[in-house]
Amino acid sequence: MVHPRHLYVHVPFCARRCAYCDFSIAVRRVVPHEEYVASLQRELVQRFGDDEPWTLDTLYFGGGTPSRLGPEGVSSMLSLLRRRITLAPGAEVTLEANPEDVTDEAVAAWAEAGINRLSLGSQSFDDRVLAWMHRSHDAAAIPRAVEAARRAGIENFSLDLIFALPEGVERSWETDVARALELEPSHLSLYGLTIEPHTPMSRWQRRGELTESADDRYEFEFLHAHDALSAAGLEHYEVSNFGRPGRHSRHNSAYWLGVPYAGLGPSSHEFDGHHRRWNVAAYVEWMRRLGEGHDPIEESEELTSDNRVAEQVYLSLRTLGGLAVNGPEIARVSVWVESGWARWVAPDRVVLTPLGWLRLDALAADLTLVRSHY
Ligand code: SF4
Repeated sequence: MVHPRHLYVHVPFCARRCAYCDFSIAVRRVVPHEEYVASLQRELVQRFGDDEPWTLDTLYFGGGTPSRLGPEGVSSMLSLLRRRITLAPGAEVTLEANPEDVTDEAVAAWAEAGINRLSLGSQSFDDRVLAWMHRSHDAAAIPRAVEAARRAGIENFSLDLIFALPEGVERSWETDVARALELEPSHLSLYGLTIEPHTPMSRWQRRGELTESADDRYEFEFLHAHDALSAAGLEHYEVSNFGRPGRHSRHNSAYWLGVPYAGLGPSSHEFDGHHRRWNVAAYVEWMRRLGEGHDPIEESEELTSDNRVAEQVYLSLRTLGGLAVNGPEIARVSVWVESGWARWVAPDRVVLTPLGWLRLDALAADLTLVRSHY
């Protein structure tokens, strides 16, 4: 087996569920980090046996809220993994963190253990909005976290922001973008709010207490972020992501390039270039199966050639790398270019503009249809 150069580890713990969140999480007041790391060890041994350590270019701890593991939990998780993997020189090692967890003590221990990039779940700088979303931190915690990270030598950090909040929620998106820029992040990820089933927000919607954001608010905020962040030197390199030169997310870029990656932890996904597999989502079930010596896999699938075509079109159009087109696709894409949705970066390579990214799903489906018919 050739081991992937990229590994994702899902850490499911959260202090409470945010009102919009439908991720696979385990709400715990006290995080059982020893129990979690012991299960991770079982999965590592079960999946990769006694193989020689293999080399990673990127390692990403996502969740959930991996920072809830605290200084000790993150350190023991990394020392467990380092028995099986070697980090390539300059490897990117990211920890998703909520601002209130980034104390001087914690971030110093994470940096010592090998974390060199933080992805901070900030979402907004407005306390009313944070409370409305049921976030567990206030706005003041965000600059405090950034300062602590810098004191520990972690300059490479990303901020997450949520836009397109429902009608009736007072929020100045322009102020939030400006406050984020004041912190001089190396990276920003934007998420347009969608109301997912089985979330507290979907219940509020059913009770008529909120209405999803209108398309024009979504479009205005997306385009404003593009203009403001680009003007500040952050490249809009993927539909939802902005980075300074040399600070694009290398881990997420691997997903968009369609290269193999491994996954550990509940609900983690893995791709070997031909097959995709994913683990059971529930933490307790993942742990139970590993404790009984069973594979925690939920399902797997082999990508068909149609799947591959659709994925390649969709993933390529997401990024500034763009998509090579030929034959009858050229005429179709020329219409997009005339509409301001795309631009040619070479005679046979197209990249979507921000206006095109607002129509990403429709354009990708349109081109997939053309591509699968010749
Ligand atoms: S912290 Fe993140 S993963 Fe946890 S509930 Fe909130 S949005 Fe979901």
